[in-house]
Amino acid sequence: MQVIGLIGGMSWESTLVYYRLINEAVREKLGGFHSARILMYSLDFHEIETLQRLDQWEEAAAVLEDAAGRLARGGADLILICTNTMHKVADQVRAAAKIPLLHIADALGEQVTGMGLTRVGLLGTRFTMEQDFFKVRLRQAHGLDVLVPEAGSRRIVHDIIYDELCQGQVTEASKQALLGIIRDLEAHGAEGVVLGCTELPLLVGQADASVPIFDTTAIHARKAVEIALGE
Ligand code: GLU
Repeated sequence: MQVIGLIGGMSWESTLVYYRLINEAVREKLGGFHSARILMYSLDFHEIETLQRLDQWEEAAAVLEDAAGRLARGGADLILICTNTMHKVADQVRAAAKIPLLHIADALGEQVTGMGLTRVGLLGTRFTMEQDFFKVRLRQAHGLDVLVPEAGSRRIVHDIIYDELCQGQVTEASKQALLGIIRDLEAHGAEGVVLGCTELPLLVGQADASVPIFDTTAIHARKAVEIALGE
């Protein structure tokens, strides 16, 4: 079994879920007392959130490159960046790590196309919904048509992520707001909706929606286990 290297802490609320899901998947596949071989480097999210807000992506990339180097030197065989947003700097992190990096949008794209869908709604931080790094990869590498909510709804989703979920708060009001936005995406032709932020599955899940919901945390974690086990 390969050693899975996690760059976590963005936020730790979702890194905790990665740790559990990866171990559960290994137990499910190998049985008995088997658990995952994991190395984690968990960052101080204060530093990352500040750099994001100030648009200092090169500085943020340097922090993640350093983390990737530490994981690679520590013996990780594979790197995961445990956030969708910070995949904005995935190419730099991959180059610094010099070991394979499992891109979250590739794990997602494979899952969506595997279900035969071509048009998905995307929820995430404003960076993920508005900038190109995530949507273009889904379009170009996986042939997907990606819809995002209108500006007011994007602001609501972004604020729920940073003001609540990354701070450990889960509220019914925000859940209902998010479900309304998911219904809007569906009404605009989305065949499925991507929870393109690793904290969003803390708020909503498949049981809450009538279209397929793509949980990027779970999809990323599961794909990492398949690779680590050589499947
Ligand atoms: N974890 C979130 C994501 O998947 C947001 C926090 C961050 O900015 O990294 O995008």
